[in-house]
Amino acid sequence: MGDHLLRATAQGQIRMLAAVTTDLVNEAQRRHKTLPTATAALGRVLTAAVMMGATLKGEETLTLRVMGDGPLGTLVAVANARGRVKGYVQNPRVHLPLRETDGKLDVGRAVGKNGMLHVAKDLSLKEPYTGSVPLVSGEIGEDLARYYLDSEQTPSAVALGVLVDTDNSVKAAGGYIVQLLPGTDEDIISRLEENIKSAQNVSRLIDGGKDARQLIEEVLKGFAIKIHERLDLQFACDCSFERLEELLVSLGSEEIKSMIEEEQGAEVRCHFCNEEYHFSKTDLERLLREMKE
Ligand SMILES: [Zn+2]
Repeated sequence: MGDHLLRATAQGQIRMLAAVTTDLVNEAQRRHKTLPTATAALGRVLTAAVMMGATLKGEETLTLRVMGDGPLGTLVAVANARGRVKGYVQNPRVHLPLRETDGKLDVGRAVGKNGMLHVAKDLSLKEPYTGSVPLVSGEIGEDLARYYLDSEQTPSAVALGVLVDTDNSVKAAGGYIVQLLPGTDEDIISRLEENIKSAQNVSRLIDGGKDARQLIEEVLKGFAIKIHERLDLQFACDCSFERLEELLVSLGSEEIKSMIEEEQGAEVRCHFCNEEYHFSKTDLERLLREMKE
């Protein structure tokens, strides 16, 4: 069906975003060669970021950063308003034993329970926005729900799921964010809570063939639903030879000189997409000259 996102509202009191992100999480897995626990954590962060990005406008971007004290280190995802997202995990080769309680990938332990979740929005015409909350469980979904409540005063339920196949590829990934608008009736809240409780977990639903519309229909069962625009999603990086040049320049001329002397060139990787760029000795010498000018 291809990765996609839908926005919906119900009863004028609930808004919801739902996304299928199987392909883009798969692409991230291939690029960063993540092991299953890292794949699940990175996939959840990418899915969350791409949904949050869908609420932006024009050229605005959103950066979601999860910094826990677990073995994964920092997770980062950057999304824009057009459904494009890129991201990485500091230590991609992390895989932990499955949780004993339910046999699921132990994302919470891999991320760590102590740490912070940061959201930064680069808003074209306004001051940049940043908000941070301490992690609740490191499972990402709960942490993001806390962020919405504490930083944006919006009660939210967040579900994020990634199902990893036996060959390490991604079988299904996606999620949803449901939010209550101010003054939502109590009976609507309790009906919604019932729906969320009885819904199957989101990666299972997607693995079973459900698309974003069906996720919305499941979670908002019994409500008058209005579906808004659809957005196609993809893993996409905006790096280029020129951008990586800037990175090299920021290392300073001494570092570049030693690259010329010791290695006759440099291999530089983009953090976000793991693409490798080769700089020849001639390229580096040109950079040095430009830095002097
Ligand atoms: Zn890149």
